[in-house]
Amino acid sequence: MGTPALLSELRTLVGEPHVLTGPGLQAYECDWRKRWHGRALAVVRPADTAQVARVVQACLTHRVGLVPQGGHTGLVGGGTPDNSGTQLVLSLQRLNRIREIDVDNLTMTVEAGCILQAVQVAAAERGLLFPLSLAAEGSCTIGGNLATNAGGTQVLRYGNARDLCLGLEVVTAEGELLHGLGGLRKDNTGYDLRDLYIGSEGTLGIITAATLKLVPQPAATMTALATCTNPEAAVGLLRLARTRLGATLTGFELMNALARELVARHLPQIPQPLWTDASCPPWSVLLEQSDDEGPEQAHHRLEGLLEQALEQGLIQDAVVAKNMSESRQLWHLREAIPLAQAEEGLNIKHDISVPVSRIPAFIATTNAILAQAHPGCRLVNFGHLGDGNLHYNVQAPAGTPPGDFLARCEQTINTLVYDSVQAHAGSISAEHGIGLLKREELAQRKSPVALDLMKRLKRALDPQGILNPGRVV
Ligand code: FAD
Ligand code: ZN
Repeated sequence: MGTPALLSELRTLVGEPHVLTGPGLQAYECDWRKRWHGRALAVVRPADTAQVARVVQACLTHRVGLVPQGGHTGLVGGGTPDNSGTQLVLSLQRLNRIREIDVDNLTMTVEAGCILQAVQVAAAERGLLFPLSLAAEGSCTIGGNLATNAGGTQVLRYGNARDLCLGLEVVTAEGELLHGLGGLRKDNTGYDLRDLYIGSEGTLGIITAATLKLVPQPAATMTALATCTNPEAAVGLLRLARTRLGATLTGFELMNALARELVARHLPQIPQPLWTDASCPPWSVLLEQSDDEGPEQAHHRLEGLLEQALEQGLIQDAVVAKNMSESRQLWHLREAIPLAQAEEGLNIKHDISVPVSRIPAFIATTNAILAQAHPGCRLVNFGHLGDGNLHYNVQAPAGTPPGDFLARCEQTINTLVYDSVQAHAGSISAEHGIGLLKREELAQRKSPVALDLMKRLKRALDPQGILNPGRVV
């Protein structure tokens, strides 16, 4: 037995055209950020759950490691094969059927390879909302969203991917099928296996389908952009918004000036409201309200909030989108930041979280530490302030080649930032997960008891160690 035998077995299992080898596999071997360049033994594209199970069984027999992959938009190297040429990429993209929408139960059962946007559209066609929303939604898959417990821009109201999932179908690391689909909101029959697989980044099992929670479409959605002088004021605005808007507050995003400036530089076609005179406002907040009442009431409520915030000096200026197209433009501005950063050059990304109340202190102290240790480094701060989750990214000083900067400073900058995160009772990953990027960091910072339990779970569920080897733990 050997590799040729495995490849020929796979061709029989899924069909010759769906076992890809040789050159031309960049989309599978190189990640979105172009940080990891791997080399796959092959890319195998099964058509359904039964084929996934057989592929896993074949890999077990041949002791070949598998890297599950959805839309390959993950940011921590979790879905990219290493460069040994011995790992098989298992692409779930062909499992893209919507199996059922149950309008009365407010649920939807979809296969893992469904693109997030397609799921949103299918729900909307039935007058319902699937509220997971992130900038990669045009290419990421539900399987990847669940495997990374993705967050995004509406967590504040609807929770993250874990909160939106009621059941999973999983092919275990031993090639068995775990039937866990179903639309139950209450089920206390022992350990929650679903929650174990969610967020496990392809290291414990392969998600092949999921039952998702839907909610009624709100009657009106209003978006506003406001400017403020510092993060304390932004937190004050959040407090006021929570009081005045209650559960109708669905999004609360923060952007610093450099984040907006990079969008202006690299994507000048995107409108930049409230950018007066020559300078960009120091901080901007994008907030969204989704109301069950009609647009007029929603508009009224949002304007009332902004007027009070102006009176209290929390914000300097604000604009409310007049229609969906203006609302989309505001979101476009926020969601274009990662792309603008990529255009500016490789950067050091952190998707940290701290309690919302500690965000201002975290930003102030960490900015000061970095400015002293790495003079000239440029801080791109933006993210989901409503969840206490900040993309605290570090761009090379102007004029310094980004590659050199990362090679020289990434490790020390990570240490400074994560020490500060810990000092503020935070997490080193609020969204993107561990993958390859933060494996060492996790090993150093997670409690030994937690790490030991995680390793024991991994050994129990994947005794041969064939699923996403080398990731997470
Ligand atoms: P992939 O990248 O293919 O895989 C991600 C991980 O999941 C890998 O470890 C892979 O092995 C595993 N995996 C994939 N499919 C399966 C499966 N079916 N079964 C088991 N394991 C599987 N993330 C957020 O949380 N919030 C954001 O706001 C956000 N914004 C982003 C914006 C941009 C522009 C980009 C590029 C990324 C963003 N991300 C964000 C990160 C990324 O989009 C999410 O992690 C997404 O959920 C990954 O989905 P995917 O299908 O691309 O997964
Ligand atoms: Zn995010």
